[in-house]
Amino acid sequence: MSVFEHINGDGYEQVVFCNDVHSGLRAIIAIHSTALGPALGGTRFYPYASEEEALVDVLRLARGMTYKAAAAGLDLGGGKAIIMGDPRRIKTEELLRAYGRFVETLGGRYITAEDVGTFLQDMDIVRRESRWVTGCSHTYGGSGDPSPVTAYGVLQGIKACALEVFGESDLKDRTVALQGVGKVGHALCGYLVEQGAKVKVADADVDNLARAVSDFEVETTEPDGVHTLEVDVFAPCAMGGGINDDTISQLRCRIIAGAANNQLQRNEHGDKLRDLGILYAPDFVINAGGLINVEDELRGYSRKRAMERVEGIYKQLQHIFTVAKERRISTARAALDYAEERIRKIGRIRLVRVDEYGPDH
Ligand code: NAD
Repeated sequence: MSVFEHINGDGYEQVVFCNDVHSGLRAIIAIHSTALGPALGGTRFYPYASEEEALVDVLRLARGMTYKAAAAGLDLGGGKAIIMGDPRRIKTEELLRAYGRFVETLGGRYITAEDVGTFLQDMDIVRRESRWVTGCSHTYGGSGDPSPVTAYGVLQGIKACALEVFGESDLKDRTVALQGVGKVGHALCGYLVEQGAKVKVADADVDNLARAVSDFEVETTEPDGVHTLEVDVFAPCAMGGGINDDTISQLRCRIIAGAANNQLQRNEHGDKLRDLGILYAPDFVINAGGLINVEDELRGYSRKRAMERVEGIYKQLQHIFTVAKERRISTARAALDYAEERIRKIGRIRLVRVDEYGPDH
């Protein structure tokens, strides 16, 4: 498939391939839409198996950001960037600064932040070359790592789901299977334990798993089977595409609510969850806390204001659940419709309809 075939279908505005021979940087910046404002989305640093795989991933993630920003009511478009390679092996100051210079060339059409494989310290370095960086450390006037705020938003979402399914938002003694205790999952685990929930965690990384056990005294479970546990809530906080043809029939939870992007491999899986009686909190609505937090940085950061806005995820999800019930559609489709309606009404550029999500990494 040619690059234009990839980007035409969903109407991507711009895709930039960045190459720096000296530092070994190979990056792709994808701008899906600037209909509602500049395209803000993180930089994923990942050892992709091929360029094709990297392109497909960055395009899908960029499109997801368009929907996330719209559903959260932000004046932002959707974009994302990937850097190819193993961050533990090739990440250097030289490479990050070369990347920052490419971000700067876009003049603010794309604004970056951290994502899987990039951290606060990396954004501080990128910021030395570009103004268009968020999620920097407090020392530089930034809002810090957005992950704990994302986790706080997911907690609000889980409470809204609990109210919908069990008639009360209290999470005391609710059972939760948490997949992935990285930056977001770890913070979420802390919040859930604090609320009195009974949490079982799984992670492919033994160090991250050990940290969660030592910090929160939670039980562990195998990564391969975490989605099959009989629990109130399954919280995917690792990679996307976890709800797919193979896993959907193995689910034994009442609620799916977690931080991972692109949890459904395809939209039909949202319909299937509805048929199975499992309440799904659409990923781009429940995980918008980090985006809301970094967006606040653009207007002079206030932690208090950001957290208050993130608490709005609770009501936002309630609205999506109501619409889904009224229209007899899945919550996934209700969320897509909601975001698209906002872009149609307020956006400056027409949006191409999203029909499919593919798997994340
Ligand atoms: P992270 O890399 O810090 O954490 C991911 C964790 O998942 C790691 O500990 C990893 O070992 C684990 N993992 C990977 N594959 C696994 C598997 N098959 N089973 C169990 N564990 C596995 O990333 P993060 O920043 O915590 O983000 C987690 C997810 O949330 C990603 O999908 C990301 O795109 C999404 N997200 C993050 C933010 C944020 O603020 N960081 C915001 C919105 C969405």
